[in-house]
Amino acid sequence: MSKLRVLITSNKYFDTAIKLLQEKFDVTVIQSSYPSQEEVLQALPDHDAVVIVGHQTVNTEFLNIAGSKLKVVSTVSAGYDHLDVPEIKKRGIKVGHTPEVLSIAVAEIAILLTLNAARRIHEGQQKLEEGKVNTNFQWLLGYELRGSTVGIVGLGSIGQAVVKRLKCFDVERFVYTGHSRKKAGDDLGAIFVSLDELLEQSDFIIVAVPLTNETRGLFNESTFQKMKKNAVFVNVGRGQTVITDDLVKALKNKTIFAAGLDVTDPEPLPPDHELLQLPNAVVIPHLGSATIKTRMDMSIIAAQNVINGLEGKPLIYPL
Ligand code: NAP
Repeated sequence: MSKLRVLITSNKYFDTAIKLLQEKFDVTVIQSSYPSQEEVLQALPDHDAVVIVGHQTVNTEFLNIAGSKLKVVSTVSAGYDHLDVPEIKKRGIKVGHTPEVLSIAVAEIAILLTLNAARRIHEGQQKLEEGKVNTNFQWLLGYELRGSTVGIVGLGSIGQAVVKRLKCFDVERFVYTGHSRKKAGDDLGAIFVSLDELLEQSDFIIVAVPLTNETRGLFNESTFQKMKKNAVFVNVGRGQTVITDDLVKALKNKTIFAAGLDVTDPEPLPPDHELLQLPNAVVIPHLGSATIKTRMDMSIIAAQNVINGLEGKPLIYPL
């Protein structure tokens, strides 16, 4: 009997995980580190499972091209806004993702961005590079986490990991918002508030929500206006939860103090984008889960999702 066929959409998927799949299946790896959607669609027909490495879109066109043989879609990511999950499931295809194993790595990046933005690290480096260092006692003063109110928008796996890690920074109060009060919030001593309350009270706002119809453009002129003047805004969720032009305006007009962004809209930002020139914005190119350990763990879980799916067992992390 011929082996089931698995497609991996990038040659930057980890070898250990490829080997796991090769023990059981006939595996094809697209020989490109970051293939275009067209390259993926071209390689797609006649596979039983596909491992999505790099957020390629899985929509009706993708599923039509994949054909009726496709049984499992396994994305190597926690977020799944690039997948049309209802359409995938309607066709009886199993779909899995890799949450939780990346939460600590993303939380570390959130804290790195928070401290960077609050302590004006980008601005300091710009001044150094321009030869404009000033030894004035009140030069480049920033804000501390000590004694502050930290607001978490989206107290899920990543949001909780952020709060746990910020506990040793002498934060005065943690508040969070979401659809409902959570036991995890109570356990962490975080207070459930409305979005408006969070925006009005927080010195630091850390966003870790998925991109949904509800969160798309949630951070816009109106929400930035509600924030404190000293607010530090950090986004590790998805770029499209923010209206970029409104954020640029808020940073330029000093409506808020600073921003730290792992995710942006567009992504990546073009090198000449205004956001990259602003002294009070720290921007990195979606590095949240980019550690060797986390990317390895994500790769293995995605492979295990495929193995379980093709062997008729429940996926480790089904959607
Ligand atoms: P999660 O465990 O599912 O948590 C998501 C949280 O968001 C839930 O607590 C949910 O609360 C909350 N939420 C949903 N809609 C909301 C809204 N409108 N307002 C406020 N809260 C809302 O997911 P996670 O693993 O923490 O990941 C969160 C997101 O981070 C992912 O979806 C992904 O887009 C992004 N991410 C980014 C990176 C990166 O590299 N930067 C890496 C991984 C993930 P309710 O239950 O109350 O709705």
